[in-house]
Amino acid sequence: MADHPILTLKPEREIHLKNRHHAIFKNAVETFPDAPNGSIVEVRSAAGEFLCYATYNPRSFICGRAVAFEQGDPLQAMKRTIKRAVEMRRTFFDGGDVTAFRLVNAEGDGIPGLIVDAYGDILVVQLTTLGMDRLREWVVNVLGELVSPRGIYEKSTGPARKKEGMEGKEGWLRGTGGTRLEVAERGVRSIIDLAGSQKTGLFLDQREMRSLVRQLAPGRTVLDCFSYVGGFALSALAGGAVSADAVDYDGDALERAKENAALNGFAEDRFVTYRENAFDFLRRKPLPKPYDFIVLDPPAFAKRSSDIEPAKAAYTDINRMAMQALPPGGLLLTCSCSYQMDITLFQTAVFHAARQADRTVKILQKHRHAFDHPINIFHPETDYLKSLLLWVE
Ligand code: SAH
Repeated sequence: MADHPILTLKPEREIHLKNRHHAIFKNAVETFPDAPNGSIVEVRSAAGEFLCYATYNPRSFICGRAVAFEQGDPLQAMKRTIKRAVEMRRTFFDGGDVTAFRLVNAEGDGIPGLIVDAYGDILVVQLTTLGMDRLREWVVNVLGELVSPRGIYEKSTGPARKKEGMEGKEGWLRGTGGTRLEVAERGVRSIIDLAGSQKTGLFLDQREMRSLVRQLAPGRTVLDCFSYVGGFALSALAGGAVSADAVDYDGDALERAKENAALNGFAEDRFVTYRENAFDFLRRKPLPKPYDFIVLDPPAFAKRSSDIEPAKAAYTDINRMAMQALPPGGLLLTCSCSYQMDITLFQTAVFHAARQADRTVKILQKHRHAFDHPINIFHPETDYLKSLLLWVE
């Protein structure tokens, strides 16, 4: 007698689960389980072989998400997976100068639907699948036991929940208090407001690239395009940039950026913000200053495969405009967080930009990955972020 309802795959559809990929697509299913939406089911091959336990949501095209590949109690296995994720972060972040980092990176750590970010002693949780949503209380208890945070705040506000048939949800799950917190990244302080922010508060995945910008900033006049709360600009100022201006169309983010610049003691004339569409800003002739270091960190232009063509054009566009604005010996850090645009496509878009701008471009560095956003070798979709540091002649 099985403890969990059974989902059986069609013949020869088990290979990617054997390879520990997490998604179970509806069209691979032979027999659907008689199980409530959001519950945990056992997944078997057509031959009856155990494959994994998965959270089940027939309302989504990805109707199953593997949460444990070993037999036995799946919740115990998931707890062990979360524990290993937390221990990995302890190796790198305990006692260090980074107080905001990702503790659990969904499939990247083998737990689909669960993102947990630590902001000091507060944890911010994002539950993106129906299965994880149903396990909210369990998640809170496990995190309480493993990490003992002062509070746990839920910020399940991304677009992923819509595909799972759920609304957004936000608020304290454990503890209460103000939503404004101060965190530090290698000496750069910032205030985040959990309630009003994008993502869980900060874009933690770009930490290593911010450090790279800081290292290269001395004497440079920097432009941080698609700045959000000015992470790149503030890192550049901390590194000794002459000035670092920020462009974003999110006015609240820019207000926070200004507050953070003041918090770090940067003089007002070193940091000017522009609430503007970055495409329009880059089209200005001339730009407000002769920038010699430009950072482009736009949102994902390709959210699905049908977006690839317009996305390529958009990446080429902004990169061409940035290259045209730079003097010889200018630096361009250009990024893409679209999974759909792999590094080859992205590099090709940048190649076209260089041709159109008629500039010689050398790649100095490819993306430096933040350790708290591990890529799951078995689940390539977790490899979404890439950056190129370019020397523009
Ligand atoms: N570089 C940031 C993260 C950027 S996220 C960091 O290190 O923290 C992308 C940002 O681009 C968001 O803040 C979003 O508001 C902004 N954005 C998206 N499209 C834009 C556009 N067309 N013009 C200006 N800003 C835009």
